[in-house]
Amino acid sequence: MSNTSPFFSEQQLIEILSHSPLAAAIFVNEDLTIAYINNCMLDIWKKEDKVIGRVLVDVFPELNDQPFISLLKEVLHTGIAYEGKDRPANLMVRGKLQTFYYDFKYQPIKNEKGEVFAILHTATDVTERNLTTLALAKAKQDEDDLKNEKVLNEELLKVKENLSKLNKELEDRVNYRTKELLESEATLRNLILQAPVAIAVLRGKDLIIESANDKILEAWHKTKEIIGLPLKVVFDDIKAHSLFSELANVYESGEPYYGNEISVILNEQELFTNLAYQPIKNSKGKTDSIMLVAHVVTEQVLARKRVEHAEEMLRFSIEAANGGSWFLDLQTRELATSPRYKELYGFHINDTPAYADILAQIPPEYHEKINDELENAIKNGTDYTTEHPIISKTDNQTRWVKSLGKVYSDSTNQPLHFSGLMLDITEQKLDDLRKSDFIGMVSHELKTPLTTLKGYIQLLNARAKQDDDAFRINALAKVETQINKMSELIKSFLDVSRFGAGKIMLTKNRFCLNQLIQDIIEENLFTTPDQAIVLENTNKMEVYADEEKIGVVIANLLSNAIKYSPKGTTIKLGCQLNNGCAEVKLTDEGIGIKANDLHKLFDRYYRVENASTKHISGFGIGLYLSAEIIKQHNGKIWAESEMDKGSTFYFTIPQGITA
Ligand code: ADP
Repeated sequence: MSNTSPFFSEQQLIEILSHSPLAAAIFVNEDLTIAYINNCMLDIWKKEDKVIGRVLVDVFPELNDQPFISLLKEVLHTGIAYEGKDRPANLMVRGKLQTFYYDFKYQPIKNEKGEVFAILHTATDVTERNLTTLALAKAKQDEDDLKNEKVLNEELLKVKENLSKLNKELEDRVNYRTKELLESEATLRNLILQAPVAIAVLRGKDLIIESANDKILEAWHKTKEIIGLPLKVVFDDIKAHSLFSELANVYESGEPYYGNEISVILNEQELFTNLAYQPIKNSKGKTDSIMLVAHVVTEQVLARKRVEHAEEMLRFSIEAANGGSWFLDLQTRELATSPRYKELYGFHINDTPAYADILAQIPPEYHEKINDELENAIKNGTDYTTEHPIISKTDNQTRWVKSLGKVYSDSTNQPLHFSGLMLDITEQKLDDLRKSDFIGMVSHELKTPLTTLKGYIQLLNARAKQDDDAFRINALAKVETQINKMSELIKSFLDVSRFGAGKIMLTKNRFCLNQLIQDIIEENLFTTPDQAIVLENTNKMEVYADEEKIGVVIANLLSNAIKYSPKGTTIKLGCQLNNGCAEVKLTDEGIGIKANDLHKLFDRYYRVENASTKHISGFGIGLYLSAEIIKQHNGKIWAESEMDKGSTFYFTIPQGITA
């Protein structure tokens, strides 16, 4: 090494460097031999001073795989200084590789030719500073990490919160669904248990009763104890086995079975059921069990059979009575008639006569009466009964028919249809006519001798009075009473025949109805010593009517009341004004009349036949005549009665007087 400094000797420079607080070392040659090193650098290198004269890599073999050697060589070759800051260097200290940090410079030292002959290496150990910075950076990083972690934690917390919220919701939903499921399962179970149809589930080939609801237990006459037992064990009755034969088929085939109104004998009783055997299959499609659903319809089937039977009986009866039937739809006014009905009217069996076609075969004078009665029955829901002649369309022959009908309404009382029967009463009618003709003729013939007889009695009576013969007077009075009764009877018979032929005419005049009633009561008082006859209302009431015929009606009603009441009873008779009509009311305490006889009382020759009436004489014409007279007055007559308590007869006629 030569003296290169113009001011300091080499020795002086080394002296300066030796005391410099700046760490310094000088490398020479291509192999970087350590030519000089001061104490400061020795400290940094963590080495003793024995390193001078040694090659750098020998002192620091660990530098071989670090950049420093090649950096130094580059400075040596290029002559360009190199500076590094905070550079880590890994040095072996006390047998342990440790990292230190340095600020350093490789300064080329050149001769006067400008050739690099040495490198001055200065360095400051910044490990401390660096470690602090690193520690700070680390602390910062940690802090950042922490912060990040906090944020993350917060987010995590939020996610967690959301998750737990979601979890809770899910849990709630699951709980709710489970509750719902349990409830619906319970509802379903209850539904099945209390279902109005019989349900059972039968498991396996042996048809073991897995479950059975109340209804099926009731139908089987069994208790819950049968659950778990095979069907065949529960029903050892061989007749019941036929019921289950289909079950075996369903189990084998996997096909459901449906049966309607199947007759089953259970416990010696016949039941009718609508059945369904539904196979229940497992996931492999094999039948596991069978659901048996049965609706017991015994009542309905029996009721229908009863109706069918009744209908059949009715049909037989109609056929036996040779009657026809008819059906009028009140909504469409369409008329349906039976073959016999058409036959009576002379229509062909395939004809579909309308109401107008039917009416055309009835004599016109009956149309009004028939229409009125039909309308009345439809409007008031009352029974329809009428008799009229018909003229056959085919042979023009006149036949008499009796038509009976009734309006049938739905549950809301809306009239649905009007149907009934028609009976051929020609024979009976002709009989009546013949009877009336005969009665008319006989009565007429009896009238003349009776009038003569009456004349002679009156003559004898006059003589007896002259002779003052009390016995004869009395006897003749009794004979006269009987003759009067007889002539009344004959008159009635004559009236009947005249009414039948429509030959009665009314002779109306103004009279006091209450007076008429009183007179009739008085006439009867002498002949009726055993009953009290009381006039109920003595108010004056004038009417315009046929006095004689109204008198006949009142006398008829009173004589019936006397006839059909026991001794010691009271008969009340009176009249009052009611809505412009005179109403006569007669009440007795007699034997009474059965409800189903009440409406027939006013038919010609109708008599109630029973033990009480057997010994009471009569012809069944009094009420018929009365009804005809009242009808001619445009009035109404009817009766109310209670068996063994008594009857009340009423009639009303228009007062016929304008004030
Ligand atoms: P009869 O001549 O048979 O009395 P009616 O036409 O006067 O004929 O009466 C018809 C039937 O009505 C009677 O046969 C009787 O059975 C019944 N009847 C009439 N009035 C009464 C009454 N007040 N109490 C009980 N039954 C009566």
